[in-house]
This record gives sequence, C-alpha cells and structure tokens, in this order.
Amino acid sequence: MNIHEYQAKALLKSYGAPVAEGAAAMTPAEAEAAAKMLPGPLWVVKAQIHAGGRGKGKFKEAEAGEKGGVRLARSVAEVREFASQMLGNTLVTKQTGDQGKQVNRLYIEDGADIARELYLSVLVDRANGRVAFVCSTEGGMDIEAVAEETPEKIHTIHVDPAAGYAPYVGRKIAAALKLEGDQVKQCVKLMGQIYKAFTEKDMSLLEINPLIVTAQGNLHVLDAKVGFDNNALYRHPDIVDLRDLSEEDEKEIEASKYDLAYIALDGTIGCMVNGAGLAMSTMDIIKLYGAEPANFLDVGGGASKEKVTAAFKIITADPNVKGILVNIFGGIMKCDVIAEGVIAAVKEVGLKVPLVVRLEGTNVEKGKQILAQSGLDVIPADDLDDAAQKIVAAVQGK
Ligand code: ADP
Ligand code: MG
Repeated sequence: MNIHEYQAKALLKSYGAPVAEGAAAMTPAEAEAAAKMLPGPLWVVKAQIHAGGRGKGKFKEAEAGEKGGVRLARSVAEVREFASQMLGNTLVTKQTGDQGKQVNRLYIEDGADIARELYLSVLVDRANGRVAFVCSTEGGMDIEAVAEETPEKIHTIHVDPAAGYAPYVGRKIAAALKLEGDQVKQCVKLMGQIYKAFTEKDMSLLEINPLIVTAQGNLHVLDAKVGFDNNALYRHPDIVDLRDLSEEDEKEIEASKYDLAYIALDGTIGCMVNGAGLAMSTMDIIKLYGAEPANFLDVGGGASKEKVTAAFKIITADPNVKGILVNIFGGIMKCDVIAEGVIAAVKEVGLKVPLVVRLEGTNVEKGKQILAQSGLDVIPADDLDDAAQKIVAAVQGK
C-alpha cells in the first residue's frame, strides 16, 4: 500500500524528522487558506498522486500547461491560480503511464531555499535480508539517469538487524553524502528517526528525493514516497486509514476485499489459479502458445466458494478478457469447491467468453463431475499443456 507525499511527511514529522510546514487541499479555496497559514515569500503547489516524477510531468489539459505537477508560487493569489489549474486535471509523468493520473489533492508547502539536493532511500535488501540505506549526492529529479550512467555515485549502507540502527551507520551515510560539521550530527539523528519509522511501521520502501541541505545549512525532507508491506497492515490501522482508493485499480481494490492476489495485465486471457508459482507457470505457458494473460489472479491455498465467485466476477468484469482459464491444483483447496464456485459465479454474472477449466488434485473426479453436470459451456482440459492450447485456440477463434 502506498500513501501520498503529505501523509508520508506527516508520519516522518511524528518521528521528529525536519519537514517543511504545509497543508493538503482539495479545492482552490482550501489551497488559498493553506497558503495564508504559511509565511511565504515562496510557496510550492504539489500534485498529490501515487507516482513520482511530478516535477517533470505534464498535464494533458492546455489550461494547466506544460508546467508540471510541482510549481513554485510567489504569492497567495498565484497558489490559488495554480491550484485551480491543477485540480481535476490529468498529470502524466514517467511513472503514471500515458493515461496519466487525475489530480484530486494538492499539498501546499513552504518554499525551501535549496543549497544541495541529495538522494536517500530505505528498503529491504532481499539479497542479504537487511534493511539498506541507499544514498547519493546526486539527488533531485534525475536519479534514474544517475543510476544508469554513474552507478558509482550511488552508495548502499546496510544495517545489522541484530544491532539495529547505530550512529556509525548515520556517519557512513553522512560521509557518502559529503556532509560536514553540524550536518553530520543532523544526519545521524535523522537517519535514526527514519530507520525507526521504517521498521516500526513495516514499510517496504521509503524514498526521500530530494533530501536537501538548505541555504542555512540544515537537512530537510523535501519529498517523501512511502510503501508499506501489505502483509503487516493488520497491525497498523492508522496507516490503513491513509489509504486513498481513488489511486488504486478498482479491480485490485475488489480483490483485496476478498484477500485475493490480483494484478491486472495487458493480455486477453483471464487466469484463475491457486498459488503464485502456478500463476507464473500458467502465464508462461499461455505466452508459449502465442497469447498474453490479462491478469495474475491467485485465489490462494484455502479459498472458499465465495472467494472463487469474487475472483470470477473480477475477471469477467475486465472488457479485455476474451477467454478464461481456470487452473487449479487441489491440495487444501478441494476441486469440488472450485467447481461449485465457478458454477455459482457463471450463474450470477453469465458467461460471454470461452472458459477452459483444468482441475487436478483433491476431489478432482467430483469436481469434474460437478462441472460436466452443470449444463454450462465449460471446456474441460486434462493437463496444463492441453488447457493452455485450448484457451489460446478459443480466444484466437480457431
Ligand atoms: P517529484 O519527485 O515527484 O518530481 P518533488 O517533491 O521531488 O517531486 O519535487 C520536484 C522538485 O521541486 C524538487 O527536486 C525540488 O527542486 C523542487 N521542490 C519541491 N518541493 C519544494 C519546496 N518545498 N521548496 C522548494 N522547491 C521544492
Ligand atoms: Mg522527488
């Protein structure tokens, strides 16, 4: 789960991190009110969408112009003007895809006097099972180019999980960022606050780009992007409250209600599978036979009839789906339960595209029998190869 920049900053502030003053706004009037609370003479109007690259992004609508999703305003009136240009319009950045994202919220922030822009992120490094700080002196809007062209300018500093965060980690980061004097002290303190927030809140990624040194020589968090580990959300109701559903794919929201792992893809074959490994191999074999999967949907090990029905509805709601492949290996999950779920779903939502079902494992005969006797137009398959060939042939009209 991701949150907005302004939410991430409020969270970091609660851990003591230095962030600028600011307030969120949903209307031009709120933006004006927020600007009036700040001292000026520089204000920043920032589009709040779950994607980075806003500064270099472009709005689709001419009125908002080519000026991007982060704009510097010199007066309260200008804040209001920018806000009315940005709100409701669609911002396209490197991370949004061509369709862009509609801007429904803004963050009005105190303008900073920037001396240096640095890069900092914290992530879980799976290769060695440790939390890692990744940093660079080359922060700002082109970190991807730095990673590609001058990777030696990006430093990774791991934290020993047994020892936890210690000041020497902060000093290493400060050295990598070429900080001096009091800034080193500030860095050691800030990294400790960030590490605490990261681990206590079960974050999976925290990116501060840029982390700045102000003209007065102080470290400041200027941008913040945070992602949380979904499997740990149950212990953070305060974080779940920050979820902005308008930023998420509707089908993925529906899937999460039923605890289904669902990811929308670009192809034409909807897949309902149990287990991530089986989902991957199902997608591979569809590709092998010349088609593309429309989604990755894993109903999990112990799915109920309701879960299968929900999964089926999500798949059929996607207009790109020209055929459905149900590929289930019954272990804990019984094949007859799957069969009943499929039938219940088809009865409820109808079946407008070919459906191939391949069942194997616990109660497979019972499952096949239920499907055969249902009177539904289900194409049975014997094994994965057979199933893939049948569904690909069906969507290709062969
Ligand atoms: P994004 O990464 O989505 O482009 P950022 O928040 O990093 O958005 O903003 C882009 C750039 O805008 C920053 O690198 C910085 O130069 C400038 N900027 C952002 N916030 C402020 C601020 N409060 N004061 C001054 N400049 C800012
Ligand atoms: Mg940024």
